[in-house]
Amino acid sequence: MSDKEKARIVEIVNIIRVRKPSLIEKNSAIFNFLSSLIYKFCAPRIYKMDKGFWADARCNSCGICQKVCPVDNIKIEDGRPKWLGKCEQCLACLQWCPQEAIQYGKSTSGRKRYHHPEVNIKDIILEEDR
Ligand code: SF4
Ligand code: SF4
Repeated sequence: MSDKEKARIVEIVNIIRVRKPSLIEKNSAIFNFLSSLIYKFCAPRIYKMDKGFWADARCNSCGICQKVCPVDNIKIEDGRPKWLGKCEQCLACLQWCPQEAIQYGKSTSGRKRYHHPEVNIKDIILEEDR
């Protein structure tokens, strides 16, 4: 990584830290055009992709999945998570369920979950509550 890139990352981190409103940076015209086409095609489908989530028998109704979802897309109903169709596919619910009970389709059972080693559940929930 170049020094210029490293300096830019520090700038971006500071912008995020103070939650400063910023414009989306422009790229080349052709890249922007292609991105807008892909976004237009994909975005409406992403929200509904939460149909693939389900909670297995290990779910103990703790409600953490509801708390970590950044877009309030999970509601606990009768002690079980229900996904509401406005998902951003961040996968926080799947990665942070303490029971590893949340699955996506058939491909996630038995697979390891990942968290950044320096981030804990309280950090995530506090960030969501801001
Ligand atoms: S975080 Fe996991 S255990 Fe807790 S309610 Fe959600 S699915 Fe169930
Ligand atoms: S993947 Fe992210 S946005 Fe979608 S329901 Fe889970 S926590 Fe919410």
